[in-house]
Amino acid sequence: MVDDGRTRGRATLDGVEHSAVSRPRREARSRWTFQETAARQVGPSTKGYGERVDAACQTCEPALVRTAGRPPHDIDIVRTIDALKLRVDSGSMRYVRGDVPLEDMLALARSDLKYTIVSYLECDECGRTWFWGLCIRGAPIYESVEADAPAGHSWSAVPARERWA
Ligand SMILES: [Zn+2]
Repeated sequence: MVDDGRTRGRATLDGVEHSAVSRPRREARSRWTFQETAARQVGPSTKGYGERVDAACQTCEPALVRTAGRPPHDIDIVRTIDALKLRVDSGSMRYVRGDVPLEDMLALARSDLKYTIVSYLECDECGRTWFWGLCIRGAPIYESVEADAPAGHSWSAVPARERWA
């Protein structure tokens, strides 16, 4: 009887070891996983972007529209794109650079022809630069980045438009 208990205990330990072994595979899935984690750890209102953003910015931060889904899969892509377009059209945010115009990002993502579709925007209110990225294998990302991030981004070719739109 006591031996049975020990055996069961060992079995449980083995199980834990197995799951620990399989974890690196998930972490190595893609660099996007790392960015998602970084985005949640840093958050939009963290210090380091200047004194002007001590309070949450009411222009760029509410542009991210969430769903009831589980993080990081809790971003409403369509409504977030609409919110960003609204701000660009009204001049409260500036479209810095992207693979395709904001309104074309989803069509390109759905085509499965490009792994990541990226846009950079700058908030006129707080001055921060934002990364807005869709990934066909992962969750979308909306995070504030350094101002020189658009210039440092390794842009990749966009498939011919007639293939996806
Ligand atoms: Zn802002």
